[in-house]
Amino acid sequence: MQLAIIELHDVNPIFSNEVERALELFSRHKLDTFSLLVVPNYHGRSSLFEKKAFVNGLKSLEKAELILHGYSHRGVTPLTQRIWTSGEGEFATLTAEETMLRLCKAQAEICGTGLKCEFFVPPAWIGNPYLEEFLQSLGYKGIAYRFYIKLFNPCQRIFSPVITFSNRWGLSYLSLLSAKALLVLYKRFAIIRLALHCADFSDGRKISLWEAILSDIKRKRRIIHYGDLLSQSGLTLAFQSI
Ligand SMILES: [Zn+2]
Repeated sequence: MQLAIIELHDVNPIFSNEVERALELFSRHKLDTFSLLVVPNYHGRSSLFEKKAFVNGLKSLEKAELILHGYSHRGVTPLTQRIWTSGEGEFATLTAEETMLRLCKAQAEICGTGLKCEFFVPPAWIGNPYLEEFLQSLGYKGIAYRFYIKLFNPCQRIFSPVITFSNRWGLSYLSLLSAKALLVLYKRFAIIRLALHCADFSDGRKISLWEAILSDIKRKRRIIHYGDLLSQSGLTLAFQSI
């Protein structure tokens, strides 16, 4: 059976209302296998350390997988990528030292609050030349970009494109039009990812589209975690068509 990963981006106390709405959406679709992309200190002004109730809420979701999604999410993005990211490509222009410092700060909040992450998704899916090596040294098992997931050991790239909505003015409407077309285009791919963002839950049109997409995907694909890619038993058929 074909596979899908369902992930909610930008999980942080600053978006607690949106996270709650997303969890209600998952619950309506009887989905308990999903991945939450956690930002430890969103824009440097909302730290997990300060919101114990939110962290306890995350811990109570027994079947949810937590993924590290940067530290602050905010960064200086190169001009060529700025139109897509609105300055959210946190790691795009960091030096080696800055990259390691940022990862250590993120790790301190994740471990300090008793959470656990094995995979990393860089904000705006933009990495840098140092990120993968540093993540491996910190014990991470893989990283995901917009079109593929990379496992570190053994090194393996798994093609897995993303369906998502933009929340940038102008691009938002275009992405609404393209989402269902992408679903058709991607239907032969073995693994796809649905990337919901907390900001989507302030837009009724996006919520309705996600409702439709989730029920379609749930009927046609088995929902997995990133971590399931590490043990390939049961996934062999899916990998053959990548
Ligand atoms: Zn994000």
